[in-house]
Amino acid sequence: MEEEYSQGLVEQFIQRCRGHGLKVTPQRLAIYRKLLASSEHPSADVVYKKIVQEYPTMSFDTVNRALLTFADIGVIDTVESHSGVKRYDTDIAPHHHLHCIKCGAIIDFCDSDLDAIPIPERITRNFTVLGKRVIIRGICPQCAEGSAVHHDHENS
Ligand SMILES: [Zn+2]
Ligand SMILES: [Zn+2]
Repeated sequence: MEEEYSQGLVEQFIQRCRGHGLKVTPQRLAIYRKLLASSEHPSADVVYKKIVQEYPTMSFDTVNRALLTFADIGVIDTVESHSGVKRYDTDIAPHHHLHCIKCGAIIDFCDSDLDAIPIPERITRNFTVLGKRVIIRGICPQCAEGSAVHHDHENS
């Protein structure tokens, strides 16, 4: 990962938290950095397993509550997953997702044509739209190959 790029995101995160009156503790910052370092849209469980290697005293509850708080103030996004487990995304800019139904991988992609899909007027009339995302369900290349590549996901 490009250090400068992630540093900018960390700065932005700190500013946003402060803007919402949330204290940026070293623990919260560590949790955010772990999330940022992962592009797999991890669940709280996955973030916890990574963070506990560096911070053995941190509890799952601390990690889980921090993630819920971050999502609540909009510094991260929750991601729809078909297992019912909340997963998180540090990329809060508009983008779309590929869902692998076999391994649970959620892969980001951008497409300006999809960004431009109009929302029907009967929806916008009485529904305040805050964002939209196209989700394409299918089978990722690793799973299609039938190889035993293991993705960290909600069932791990
Ligand atoms: Zn897969
Ligand atoms: Zn994403």
